[in-house]
Amino acid sequence: VKRVCVVGGSIVGCAAAIGCTRAGHEVTVFERSTSQLETRGQGLVQPIRLMEKLIERDYIDADMPVIRMSRRRWLVRDGDLTMGRLLSEQQFRVAHVNWGTLFKNLRKRIPSEVYRAGRNVASVEETPEGIRVTLNDGSSFEFDVVLAADGNMSTIRAKLFPDAERVDGGHVVWRGWFLESESPLPEVGALDEMNTVGFERGHGNLWLIPSPEGTERGEREVAWNLYGGGIPPDLLRDRGVIRTVPPGSCTPAQIEYLHNLAATQLPPVMGQVVMATCEPMITPIYDVHVPTLVRGRIALLGDAAMVLRPVTGSGATKGLEDAMAIADALASEADLADCLARYDHERWAAADGLVALGKRMGSGLVTEAPDWTELSGAEFDALFTSVIEGRNLYFAPDAE
Ligand SMILES: Cc1cc2nc3c(=O)[nH]c(=O)nc-3n(C[C@H](O)[C@H](O)[C@H](O)COP(=O)(O)OP(=O)(O)OC[C@H]3O[C@@H](n4cnc5c(N)ncnc54)[C@H](O)[C@@H]3O)c2cc1C
Repeated sequence: VKRVCVVGGSIVGCAAAIGCTRAGHEVTVFERSTSQLETRGQGLVQPIRLMEKLIERDYIDADMPVIRMSRRRWLVRDGDLTMGRLLSEQQFRVAHVNWGTLFKNLRKRIPSEVYRAGRNVASVEETPEGIRVTLNDGSSFEFDVVLAADGNMSTIRAKLFPDAERVDGGHVVWRGWFLESESPLPEVGALDEMNTVGFERGHGNLWLIPSPEGTERGEREVAWNLYGGGIPPDLLRDRGVIRTVPPGSCTPAQIEYLHNLAATQLPPVMGQVVMATCEPMITPIYDVHVPTLVRGRIALLGDAAMVLRPVTGSGATKGLEDAMAIADALASEADLADCLARYDHERWAAADGLVALGKRMGSGLVTEAPDWTELSGAEFDALFTSVIEGRNLYFAPDAE
């Protein structure tokens, strides 16, 4: 039995805690936030095989509401055509999950004595016998191993790898969502696949996700995002990386910039959806890469390890796989160092490949995207194939 400390109790930390508790370890989760995490974020696209694995292992309920899709349509604005001209159609076997529903499913499987909310980890320090975790209220605790699942701004990663800075990806993603029942456009309810639209130096998606209420018509949420389209005005930066502009905080100049993009470059339906969104937000795009996932008694998981670009649609998928892999590794009888080495060996290359894939997608399909209006379907297919280079983009054509 090992004393396992999980720092960060979001989806990846919860998944790691479930696996480690079931392997018989003594687990403590320290989560900084006291508010309910349930409403954070919006939809996540997940591979069907990951959903099946989570159900098989009883990490989530078999009837957790998801919206399954099988196709992705790549489109480009063309006059009055409501959703534009079809460039290409791809296989897209995914499940759309509501972030809050996934979190609740994981969280309810963790005993309350294990999950300590409102506990902010200030430092971790190896001792001759183990590893000491100190909270910012001054209390400290001894463990055998620390699993850092403290997210994209991980302080544990920053301490272990001070050179692993966030590297600006050169563009932003605009995002918005609202209840389908509040949509000004009834035709949005008929969008039963992923709709991806190319525009000048960018592309964006329009799709439906489950709401916490369910997946039936009227209950869903309309979600969209726009990658790129130039750098909007009034952005602030921290150490070279653009700061997030949360919902409700866009300046009038930013809203004008977004509406101009929507009116002039998107097909009419998508343009109207974007303009009907009351509180869009702006999220920076950046990469974080580390040379190893393990140092001493600490393993990095999820966004605390490497940060993937959202255009890969893979951050949560990678994090959940990390969580299951570390729990499997720690379930073995081997020495702690061997368990952690096995985890690093199994998961580092996957993260490394996905960081590289995100950069290629960021340049090929966003900042250096060709003029989409000039592309034929065959030219688009060739571009997409060259950008993904056969890498593990799980929703690409021919993915396993
Ligand atoms: C626009 C966008 C779209 C995305 N779309 C997808 C998608 O479609 N599919 C997909 O798979 N992924 C997607 N992702 C990625 C996905 O959201 C993340 O990879 C995932 O949520 C990371 O989860 P996590 O548990 O590692 O980190 P987080 O959810 O960030 O959790 C970290 C937790 O640690 C806690 N914490 C931090 N510091 C401390 C501390 N010192 N002490 C205690 N607790 C602490 C925080 O409070 C937080 O709860 C997207 C990301 C973005 C930005």
